[in-house]
Amino acid sequence: TFDVSAPWLNRVVERKPRQYLQAVNDISFEVPLGGCLSLVGESGCGKSTVARLVTGLYRANGGEMRFAPGEDGKPLAAQMIFQDPYASLNPRWRVKNIIAEPIRELKLRNTAAEIEERVVELLKTVGLSASDGDKFPHEFSGGQRQRISIARALAGEPRFLVCDEPTSALDVSVQAQVLNLMRKLQDEFGLTYLFISHDMSVVRHMSDRIAVMYLGRIVEEGETEALFAKPRHPYTQLLLETIPNVKDPHRDRVVAGGEVPSPLKPPSGCPFHPRCAMATARCSSELPAVRTLAGGTRVACHLVTDE
Ligand code: SF4
Ligand code: MG
Repeated sequence: TFDVSAPWLNRVVERKPRQYLQAVNDISFEVPLGGCLSLVGESGCGKSTVARLVTGLYRANGGEMRFAPGEDGKPLAAQMIFQDPYASLNPRWRVKNIIAEPIRELKLRNTAAEIEERVVELLKTVGLSASDGDKFPHEFSGGQRQRISIARALAGEPRFLVCDEPTSALDVSVQAQVLNLMRKLQDEFGLTYLFISHDMSVVRHMSDRIAVMYLGRIVEEGETEALFAKPRHPYTQLLLETIPNVKDPHRDRVVAGGEVPSPLKPPSGCPFHPRCAMATARCSSELPAVRTLAGGTRVACHLVTDE
């Protein structure tokens, strides 16, 4: 496993263009080597912040972050795949140059011929053709563009990929193709995934373990099938009940009862208490500790008992 824990990470600050701030608190999770852990939750829960912290795109501000090494003793270098490949691919570069960049930067091949050969190999690996390398990003569909960004991520020869809503902007049928490609690549190259999504059905398809986030905290974490069979936290239960029938792929949120409070002013006690049907007086004053149940599920709720 690959352990990410940030027990004192209480003031991680994300600066968005409009000075939006987002905090992540007491986050700790393990990503199984060669497996997939998904972070799920509604927009604003902090899952993208965690992804960007793990890949080093954000630095913790006033907190601390620790990475336990993998089983071979080496920390894993992470590459990131984003939701909108168009925004993350340079529109003025030919695809072959986009994919070659990490190869050159990391000096993974020496000669121009070797780099070109590697680029063609990567294009084929993601289901594109050698001649696609001469085109520009705008000449491709959304699904193909996501294949290009996967090829670029693989070009750096990472063992660990952090994928932030990689298929959320795609049509459902294209989404399935890209997810299947990602699973195939995982087997082929022994990749470890940290997968970020708000879509429980996508997450079920991809992950070995799931961590449910709410307002900057992990409220439940456990094995995928266990979590679907017996969700323990009231918020996880709500998420599973509200798996939308009609998906709006462009909306990064699940429709659940009540408004999500601002992450800047989280409620006292259990952050979920204003929306929780099970809440008692204790819930509004006391933050529930994370407990590990028999079976290995971790949950933060006063009412959950170990049975
Ligand atoms: Fe609901 Fe209380 Fe459990 Fe929070 S601690 S999820 S408010 S029952
Ligand atoms: Mg996000």
